This record gives sequence, structure tokens and C-alpha cells, in this order.
Amino acid sequence: DALQNEYLHLLTEERQLQAKVDKVAGLPAITPDKKSVEVVLNAGLLLDYERSSEVGAVGIGLYRTEIPFMNRSSFPTETEQTLWYSDVLKAFPRKTVTMRTLDVGGDKSLPYFPIQEDNPFLGWRGIRITLDHPEIFLVQVRAMLRANIGQGNLEIMLPMVSGVTEVEDAIRLINQAYFELKSEYDEPLVKPKVGIMVEVPATIYQLDDLAKKVDFFSVGSNDLTQYLLAVDRNNARVAQLYDSYHPAVLRALNHIASEAQRHLVPLSLCGELAGDPAGALLLMAMGYDKLSMNAHNVARVKWTIRHVENKRVKQMLHHCLTLSTSRQVHSYLNEELEMMELGGFVRAGM
Ligand code: PEP
Ligand code: MG
Repeated sequence: DALQNEYLHLLTEERQLQAKVDKVAGLPAITPDKKSVEVVLNAGLLLDYERSSEVGAVGIGLYRTEIPFMNRSSFPTETEQTLWYSDVLKAFPRKTVTMRTLDVGGDKSLPYFPIQEDNPFLGWRGIRITLDHPEIFLVQVRAMLRANIGQGNLEIMLPMVSGVTEVEDAIRLINQAYFELKSEYDEPLVKPKVGIMVEVPATIYQLDDLAKKVDFFSVGSNDLTQYLLAVDRNNARVAQLYDSYHPAVLRALNHIASEAQRHLVPLSLCGELAGDPAGALLLMAMGYDKLSMNAHNVARVKWTIRHVENKRVKQMLHHCLTLSTSRQVHSYLNEELEMMELGGFVRAGM
């Protein structure tokens, strides 16, 4: 009984916290000293974005196209895909929708495209598959470009990039799809911005080369953490080692932000870290322009950002970057958030 009461009590407090933060859902994510960040959604199903105006996110920072591919028994046609993408783009008129090209392999498989490998996370995944199967890539990109006719809010993002050649090859195919459609359609065709996910550590050391090829970077902190720490993101046995607040990950994220600023490349982050209030604060202080997260976290992140001075967060970041273990980072951040009366965001209860 005591345990049940304790949990009921925490549940009530959690609901109160949500009701409190929901009040700022429609307001911008801006600190009292006027530092602002764009807050957008991660999505893959209609359910993820149909309430976007209520949850307060303007635009989609990561549309996972593999999700609609999963729930079927064969590859979708170009026309089917055009209809899906068109629904998403129309739901956000004049707001950017960043669509990621098919990211299967690793932990995500299609029932009609089985892949058997000993090391799937280091194997045939994301852009590696679609470059080996340009027919899949071209159909998808053609569908995206067709859906964008009359909308103009599409951006294309490439997953699992590990080098410049992949980007060059993908851009060549995107251009091919564009010129094919240009000759087939009379309507004006917009050339979308093309960016890459920064999630394979190799890209961190080639940002200067990559900056010359693409329009934006978006950090996939879920995979970047996995690959930087060599910890399978889905293996419970090593789950305590998988931590995006590991000092090496934080320093890598900070380095990416400095490089993106130096090369004037717009930078976002679309892993789970962006939707975590403490993570969102650190990323804002590092200089990330855009944070993309699940609908559930939008109001929490906005509330947090609206209640902390950027000056203070910069000091927090500075200190975090001097720490040497994940545990130190967590206890320091928890203490700081408690002091700022934001403890309810880092533990259960208000
Ligand atoms: C990531 O790796 O952080 C990411 C956003 O992509 P996914 O979780 O779909 O691999
Ligand atoms: Mg990823």
C-alpha cells in the first residue's frame, strides 16, 4: 500500500508538472536574457505531429521516413510515398520539414527486405543501403520532390554518413531526380536544402570538408553516443555505459557546434538529448540553433529555457566540460537544476 501510494503521489505530481509547463507550449523558447532556440518535432507517424500546434512545435526537425515503410509487406510505390510526404509537408505550411532518407539496417528492419549480419550497427545501414540500391533512393527522393511542389518547405537529410564520397554520390542522385522531374512537370520545382546527420564519429573530423557540400548539419546524438562510446544503444547489459552526458560526448558535441559556427553551417540536434531539459540547456549554450524532439518534451524544454538565463547556462556548460566522469556531470546538473527550482525535470515528483 505504501509503495502504491508513493507512486500515485508521483503520478499526480507529474501531471501537475505537465499542466504547468503546458501553459508555455505556444510561446517561443527564449531565455530571460533573450537567447532563443528553435524547438521542432521528431516524427514518423501522423500521431507524432497531428497535435503539433497544441504541443507548440513549429516544423519537423526529423521525419523518420523508415517508419511508414515498416508497417507493410512490400516497398511503397512513388505515388504512395508522394501522398505520405505531401500530408506531412501540408501540415506545416511555411515551416521547414526535414525528411530523412530511408534509415533501415541496424535495429530497424523491413519485413520485406531482411538483412542478416553479425554486426548490424556497423553494417549495411542508412545511406550505405540506399547508395547500393539507387532505385530505392531515387523513387524516394522523387516522391519527396513531387510532394514539395506547391509547398516549398522540404529539406532532405542523409543518415549514417561516414565520408564525403557518400554525400557526393547522394547529391548526384538528388540532382538526377530533380532534373528528371523538371522535364516531366510544368510547375516550378524547388531544389531543397540537403543536410547530413552527424552521427558517425568520423564526420566530426571532416566537418570542414562536409560543410562545403551540404546546407546543414543535424547531430544524431543517439547514434553518436553509441559509436563514440562503443556501446550498443539497445543492449541492456551495457545500458549503464550508454550515456549522452559522458564527458567525451559532451566535448564532441561542443566541438561540432564550434565547427558549425566557424563554417556558418546551421546546426540542429535531433537525438533524445535535445528533449531532455538539462541536455537542451547545454546544447543551447553550445550554440545549437535548433532542437528536435518528441512532442511530449516540447513544453518541458520550453519551460526550462524560459526560466534560465543563458549567461548562467554558459557557466554550467563551461564547468561540465571540465568534469571527467558521467556521474560527476549528472550530479552537478541535478544540483544546478534543483537550485533553479527545476528539479522536477531531472527526477520524479515536483
Ligand atoms: C540519432 O541517432 O540520434 C537519431 C536521431 O536517429 P535514430 O534515433 O533514428 O537513429
Ligand atoms: Mg541515428
